[in-house]
Amino acid sequence: MSDVLLTLNAGSSNLKYSLWHLPDLISIEQGKIEFKPDKDLNLDAALVQLMDHIYESHGNKSVRIIGHRLVHGGTQFYEPTLLNESIEEQIKQLIPLAPLHLPSELAAIGFIARRYPEIKQVACFDTAFHKTQNSLYQQFALPKEYAKNGILRYGFHGLSYEYIASVAHECIDVQHRSRLIVAHLGNGASMCAMSDLKSVTTTMGFTALDGLMMGTRCGELDAGVVLYLMQYLGLNDQQIESILYKQSGLLGVSGISSDVRELEASNDKNASIALELFAFRAAQKLAGLIPALGGLDGIVFTGGIGENSAFIREKILFHLAWLGIQLDVNANQNHSSAIHAANSLVGIYRIPTNEEKMLATHTYTFLSQQIMRLS
Ligand code: ADP
Repeated sequence: MSDVLLTLNAGSSNLKYSLWHLPDLISIEQGKIEFKPDKDLNLDAALVQLMDHIYESHGNKSVRIIGHRLVHGGTQFYEPTLLNESIEEQIKQLIPLAPLHLPSELAAIGFIARRYPEIKQVACFDTAFHKTQNSLYQQFALPKEYAKNGILRYGFHGLSYEYIASVAHECIDVQHRSRLIVAHLGNGASMCAMSDLKSVTTTMGFTALDGLMMGTRCGELDAGVVLYLMQYLGLNDQQIESILYKQSGLLGVSGISSDVRELEASNDKNASIALELFAFRAAQKLAGLIPALGGLDGIVFTGGIGENSAFIREKILFHLAWLGIQLDVNANQNHSSAIHAANSLVGIYRIPTNEEKMLATHTYTFLSQQIMRLS
């Protein structure tokens, strides 16, 4: 019987997984199970379905290790961490920082611990890559005592950024690597300014709501709007949470869909307004990161939209032409890995991310080191 490592990324309505052969970490399978909370196929049932599927399809393999993606590690957790009840309790305290993500991630961990107690579970935190951020840029301009309470800019999509940094030597020309902005554009979207491939600052802040306009999240918003919704429109916190996280962004502005594919295919003028706003705000946010780097050598597009939408890449870069950016239109349409024209002052790249690979690597390296320490 050979052992396999499973990675899990438990969202509120889907469970993304990947399966890796041990000890060589060769990818076996990746997939996603959609489920509906409170219905027959809820998260617990989806986990059982996945474990049964692994057993049936790869019957000679046994899952020994699970690496979980956890969206938020607060100020306590930066390193991969072996999960047990006490660690889970500490992570539970962080739920207010990521109310839409952490509950399902913790629920998956708890269910596996009860049902498959022999499996070792490791948490990897999406905030970890941003540990190197400049502390000044992490601050909000609020009274000091709030920063002491952990009200700081953390940043997310760390596993994706770390993966891009790990392949930069192969994929990005040396003259474009030093002052780099990586745009992770998926349902959730953010950008990270990297100096020599380390995070200096990022567009997401205290929660995964800040920064860019996203599929259903509003991104950066004048805090006065929230006060107005509360004080003058009489909305309660749950209604506001739902508006900001689930009803805004591409979906809210278009009134059609959060999916760029559908909006690109639509003739409705609100679809094109939503895409225009998405691209303009992305360009604005990208430009806003440049002072932290003191200039710009390269841009990387990644994530479902960044990797697949030539239209959105072109629209964003159109607003940044004043930086001396020249796009190679054919290379962009063909989804090549380098998409800048020869005379561009900034290198532009399209690199598919692989958060699962980063998760598997961290989990396995961490457990191997633990075993070596004990032996
Ligand atoms: P998540 O943040 O959930 O991991 P992804 O990174 O998978 O999301 O991105 C999903 C989004 O990518 C979709 O909602 C869609 O907007 C966009 N996308 C995926 N494929 C394409 C495509 N071929 N053309 C344009 N957009 C696409």
